[in-house]
Amino acid sequence: MTAEKKRSLHETSVEQFQRAADLIDLPSNYRSILASPKNEVIVNFPVWLDSGEMKIFTGYRIQHNNILGPFKGGLRFHPDVDLDEVKALAAWMTFKTALVGIPYGGAKGGVTINPTDYSTSEMRRIVRRFTHALGSNIGPETDIPAPDVGTNAQTMDWVMDTYANIAPPAFKQSVKGVVTGKSVECGGSKGREEATGKGVLFSLRHWCGETNNRLDELTVTVQGFGNVGSHFARLAAEAGCKIVGVADHTGTVGNSEGLDIPALISHVKTTGGVKDFSGAQELETEELFSMKADVFVPAALENQVTAERAKTLGAKLVVEAANGPTTPQAEEILAQREVTIVPDILANAGGVIVSYFEWLQNKSSRSWSTKDIETRFREIVWDAHDNVVATCKEFDCSMRDAAYVVALRRITACYDRRGIFP
Ligand code: GLU
Repeated sequence: MTAEKKRSLHETSVEQFQRAADLIDLPSNYRSILASPKNEVIVNFPVWLDSGEMKIFTGYRIQHNNILGPFKGGLRFHPDVDLDEVKALAAWMTFKTALVGIPYGGAKGGVTINPTDYSTSEMRRIVRRFTHALGSNIGPETDIPAPDVGTNAQTMDWVMDTYANIAPPAFKQSVKGVVTGKSVECGGSKGREEATGKGVLFSLRHWCGETNNRLDELTVTVQGFGNVGSHFARLAAEAGCKIVGVADHTGTVGNSEGLDIPALISHVKTTGGVKDFSGAQELETEELFSMKADVFVPAALENQVTAERAKTLGAKLVVEAANGPTTPQAEEILAQREVTIVPDILANAGGVIVSYFEWLQNKSSRSWSTKDIETRFREIVWDAHDNVVATCKEFDCSMRDAAYVVALRRITACYDRRGIFP
């Protein structure tokens, strides 16, 4: 294992905000507060499997900061989930929500599990028992989970239903906002499922405006074809981008004329992955990274753009749809090669923005129209990008550093006024 791989993800997240903190001479008290999560909840809980055996699962909920509002962030179900990863992901949520100016803090949770190893009824029991184990650590005014890798609207419906069933009768209806990303049938918001992918496309649109490029002239490669990658690819193709390469856990496919994304989506629905898609050439994973394209969109897991891959990355722009996809060494190499990175906390904030809309709709027992959501979404996403671009100019820094500066200024302005209790 290389030194790059062994590095703690949480340490990376701390270094990222410290670099921006240096730019604004942030006092050490604030740095110390933000360097560790406020609460770390770890639960070990038993679940009956279909075989009649009982198995213990480990789950996490890491609450990083709540100075600007309730803790907020997804639940990840993946075999690699561990404390270090969830701590980093929780911190990134604090900076993401502050950057886009929505009244939340940051948290993340998860279970160390491969969901594909379990039946639907086992997953339902696992989710319900995990929710029960978290108990009053989550709640519509305290900490609001949402989908992430390996979880979806069905997972959130189960969390909400379990929470409502253990809530006192008077609160059963008012606790729907305990999670966001629910199905529309159960109080979810229109547009939530595609929100992250749509936000990534907005990042690309904004960059085109800043650099005099045209969306319909761009070639794009995408790593990851789950909820975020597939919605992004579909919307980008509709906007005229040529998607020339896509990779997922089953394989890598490419077509220099542009892949037929709706056909690829149906292929993935029936076969479970991009492998063997008939309208494309099969490629090696590494070829996706080195393939010539204007834009590379990592939409899978952390640490995918490594130093090795950065040296030969074929794109001039990286839009981080995933959280933490670029290692610090890779980032240095890309900077030397003048490759621009639109950072994760900006590019993938679309999901939590529509989560916020869902929470507001639940609080007021109302349902917003698609048009209302679209207008408010565009305004928040655009303002955040404008702010980052202006801050890049102010400090002559990268977009990542600028994004952290915007977030840190909001967080610390609030601490300045509230003070530290007692
Ligand atoms: N898991 C998503 C993220 O990383 C969404 C979080 C949310 O909606 O709370 O931003």
